[in-house]
Amino acid sequence: MIKKTNSEVETKKLGELIGSQIKDGAVIELLGDVGAGKTTFTKGLARGMGADEEVQSPSFTISRVYGCGNLRLAHYDFYRLNEAGIMSSELQEDLNDNQTVVVIEWGGVVEGVLPNDRLTIDIKTISDDERDFRLTANGEKSQKLLERIENATSS
Ligand code: ADP
Ligand code: MG
Repeated sequence: MIKKTNSEVETKKLGELIGSQIKDGAVIELLGDVGAGKTTFTKGLARGMGADEEVQSPSFTISRVYGCGNLRLAHYDFYRLNEAGIMSSELQEDLNDNQTVVVIEWGGVVEGVLPNDRLTIDIKTISDDERDFRLTANGEKSQKLLERIENATSS
């Protein structure tokens, strides 16, 4: 599935719509250059999930966790890490928790830890304000989520 956004606000709305479709643990990998909109998208996603506070970029803390009703959102950003080290075990715990939605920016360094069954969102910068979001599912669970998202965004 491909969705276009033409502003930061539209990206947050897309994130919010997708977040509102998440009812279960999930793994979402965000791809895209610096400034593509990974963190902006996550702000909307958290809002759609009913997060208890506004998402802050986890660039300096590597991870941040939010409560979203009966779910948790664990937001990771490995941009500053050359190796995951101790963060890898924290990530593994979150991945094993079926009430946790794990969102990862710059996940290359933890590629080996991530399940194949994850939703990948590849964000391409087309112009200053224009972004393409390409969503791909890589397994049964993420495919189900993607189908829910497709249904929700087609109406
Ligand atoms: P990343 O986490 O991928 O590095 P951020 O979300 O932190 O990116 O930053 C995205 C930047 O791009 C913000 O400054 C935002 O205002 C700007 N921007 C412009 N157009 C868009 C858009 N369509 N979607 C998301 N961000 C946009
Ligand atoms: Mg970011």
